[in-house]
Amino acid sequence: MLGSVEGRSVLVTGGTRGIGKGIARVFARSGAHVVVAGRDPAVGEACAAELGALGGGRVVFAAADVATRVGCDAAVAAAVEAFGGLDVLCANAGIFPDASLDTMTEADLDAVLATNVKGTVFAVQAALGPLTASGRGRVVLTSSITGPITGYPGWSHYGASKAAQLGFMRTAALELAPRGITVNAVLPGNIATEGLADLGPEYRSTMEASIPLKRLGEVDEIGYAALFFAGAEAGYITGQALVVDGGQVLPESLEALTVR
Ligand code: NAP
Repeated sequence: MLGSVEGRSVLVTGGTRGIGKGIARVFARSGAHVVVAGRDPAVGEACAAELGALGGGRVVFAAADVATRVGCDAAVAAAVEAFGGLDVLCANAGIFPDASLDTMTEADLDAVLATNVKGTVFAVQAALGPLTASGRGRVVLTSSITGPITGYPGWSHYGASKAAQLGFMRTAALELAPRGITVNAVLPGNIATEGLADLGPEYRSTMEASIPLKRLGEVDEIGYAALFFAGAEAGYITGQALVVDGGQVLPESLEALTVR
């Protein structure tokens, strides 16, 4: 039985859709109060209303672009204003546009690094004061298997950004340990989201065939990993990465996927 996060204040960047919405739903169902941050107010308000109606913790939307420090400051301020502080930051917002090395522009690279890397660093910086005041501050990053462990054509800039999050995590964990703040990361494999749906049915079926558990992950399954890192039982874990991928990174070859 995991300890409770009931009443904790949680900020999920990119919490309005996809994996972030799954993380927010898991925390809200567990009785935590959640700010979901994103850029689109219509999507964000609808998400907050839907998750708030689950009967768990309160859920509010904050309009914020994490690629800017001012956006991250606004998201953290919304949590402090709504819930009196911040105990858990889930730095989840990320983008994954496709661009081969032949065609990738400087603007393509800047956009991915701005949201995925600067957005992670800015969110943690913005949250430092309230997480320290919490006395049990937790940071959970959403990285990926792509970059830290695997590669995929068209996502060299994305993979670099996801690996960069882990490099950041290790030093942030050291710097923040004296304040009792832990910093960990979840590395999702292929998770069924609206964003992934945009990649098409062929991408989905190819991926399912390459995953030992033969299915994509559910967004809430990333939420459970984030909930674990936020709970009391994970209080002695910091600077670590947890792969949640249905075994996708395990096979050495296609043959290894064939059950004997
Ligand atoms: P998604 O369905 O496209 O949702 C992305 C979320 O991030 C939305 O809430 C979006 O809201 C928000 N967002 C994007 N750019 C933002 C910005 N500049 N400022 C604030 N919010 C922003 O994506 P997802 O698949 O859930 O991915 C979420 C995270 O999981 C990413 O870090 C991604 O790298 C990681 N991941 C995903 C998978 C997968 O299979 N889906 C696998 C591995 C890792 P707005 O557009 O309204 O801002």
